[in-house]
Amino acid sequence: AIQIGHDLGAALMTARSLERERLAVSELQQLDDYRSHLVATLSHELRTPLTVIAGNLELLGALDLDPTVASHHQAMTRGAVRMQKVVDDLLLLARVSDPGHPLERIAVDVRDVVTDVASLVDSAAEVKGVRLGVDLPAEPLTVAGDPTEIDRLVGNLVSNAVKYTPTGGGVHISADRHGDHVVLRVADDGLGISEEDQRGLFKAFFRTTNPDALREQGTGLGLTIVASIVERHDGKVDVASRLGEGTTFTVTLPAA
Ligand code: ADP
Repeated sequence: AIQIGHDLGAALMTARSLERERLAVSELQQLDDYRSHLVATLSHELRTPLTVIAGNLELLGALDLDPTVASHHQAMTRGAVRMQKVVDDLLLLARVSDPGHPLERIAVDVRDVVTDVASLVDSAAEVKGVRLGVDLPAEPLTVAGDPTEIDRLVGNLVSNAVKYTPTGGGVHISADRHGDHVVLRVADDGLGISEEDQRGLFKAFFRTTNPDALREQGTGLGLTIVASIVERHDGKVDVASRLGEGTTFTVTLPAA
């Protein structure tokens, strides 16, 4: 009887702690949903007044401004552009991380996306003195996904690679089919990322502790957006990097 009582007591305690855990998880989920909703609403509300500010700054820029006013105008323009980038990234992140937001799936050839992104980034890389190489197969690399999102995913990885690679370095983009997956690699021989930083890389607003990388402007949202887009497309993203040697991001997506 003592043993049965003991077993019953233990089972009850387990049931109670499981119930507490379930409640804690659902509260956390509610909090997370609320936070996402708040961020999306705030970003949306900020976007219109920001457009007004940026538009008026542009109009002012066309006037013949006195040098002191011109330098204040420049500082305000830089601030407005930066704020617009943060707000746009936050809105995109809210959209791609919302499980309720339907994913439009159409056939996308990853080769076309890579070619478009490379031609867009090419001039910035050339100005910086960073070589940009592309390696693609002759046959299509079709995935089923949202073309704008896939474009953004590749764009964020390639622009980061150029941004965090000093003059004289190189960025190499390649894609291929492995079994029933399409594998995209964006490799650079730039600044690299320490092991500790690699752990926080995909978290929102994460920026490295490396002072060389911090010299570059960024929102810390680019890789969070990449991770959400990859997840929505049932893929995975991995990073291999060594501080001072370079970084390779590998994205694997199911082939269509
Ligand atoms: P952002 O570039 O706007 O700061 P990201 O989310 O795109 O934000 O990247 C987060 C951080 O990861 C960057 O601040 C940078 O330190 C590091 N990082 C990303 N890509 C690379 C890369 N190719 N090489 C070195 N560091 C990188």
